[in-house]
Amino acid sequence: MRYYENVVELIGDTPLVRLRSVAAGLPATVLAKVEYFNPGGSVKDRIAVRMVDAAERDGLLRPGGTIVEPTSGNTGVGLALVAQLRGYKCVFVCPDKVSEDKQNVLRAYGAEVVVCPTAVAPEDPRSYYSVSDRLVREIDGAWKPDQYSNPNNPLSHYETTGPELWKQTEGRITHFVAGIGTGGTISGTGRYLKEASEGRVRVIGADPEGSVYSGGTGRPYLVEGVGEDFWPTAYDRTVADEIIEVSDKDSFAVTRRLAREEGLLVGGSCGMAVVAALDVARRAGPDDVVVVLLPDGGRGYLSKIFNDDWMARYGFLDTSGPSGATVGEV
Ligand code: PMP
Repeated sequence: MRYYENVVELIGDTPLVRLRSVAAGLPATVLAKVEYFNPGGSVKDRIAVRMVDAAERDGLLRPGGTIVEPTSGNTGVGLALVAQLRGYKCVFVCPDKVSEDKQNVLRAYGAEVVVCPTAVAPEDPRSYYSVSDRLVREIDGAWKPDQYSNPNNPLSHYETTGPELWKQTEGRITHFVAGIGTGGTISGTGRYLKEASEGRVRVIGADPEGSVYSGGTGRPYLVEGVGEDFWPTAYDRTVADEIIEVSDKDSFAVTRRLAREEGLLVGGSCGMAVVAALDVARRAGPDDVVVVLLPDGGRGYLSKIFNDDWMARYGFLDTSGPSGATVGEV
């Protein structure tokens, strides 16, 4: 019989898929690392299992304990998978801009979800950071993984995502492009690839307009899971060679093209990263291999990015005129 003992064993070893349509005509090869193939449907499964393993080892999480985490959803799913298997409870704190679909996914996995306002400062007692801190103090046996400061977040990518890409491309990867949320993906994967290639691989961050990584102040944007209004310690500022700022409009236009032209139903941060990757590929040579990481699937965004009324309400839908023409080219 050939089977896995549990779904946690399915985490990682995700495939690389060439972007044949959206990258058509560009000099470089553009490959996507499709992270929705993880059992929880996102890249965050990788950090969840690594953080829980370390907390058990360090005695921070004990049998019957509760995992409390501020998460936009994907980290919650990863933690919920691992928690089920090992007998922990989960309480997740989300900002209210996170789609109801995503919140319901967490509830379906048996977690409790607490929703907080997006438009308040991190130090505000109503912010999702403050609320999660309060819950950790109040719940007996609570442990907060804190993906923003947990070294096991970037470490999981240094140990899995980076080596996978190096092996899958047989060391031919020249550019790595990823969105930045906590910064774990780009810091861990980027550091591994730089070391493996002796500094040859260029690491490029994609960031929503208004977020701190590209020089903004944290102005609200609609793409989920990326961009910040503060500098998390999980983010290593020395790894990225370049940060490319991407608008919500371009992010969502390319997200829709990935579904329609590549058969990749993915989330908005994937479209954002691909906008940046196409920009990189346009400036690259024929021997270059640009790898872009796609963090999650698109099912959680059907009522937003893939809904024409929602897109039109924010002025994201027009495909004519100068802005639409640019979108068509990226
Ligand atoms: N995209 C999505 C949808 C995410 O949930 C996250 C995680 N916050 C990211 C991108 C960014 O990944 P990281 O936190 O590793 O920077």
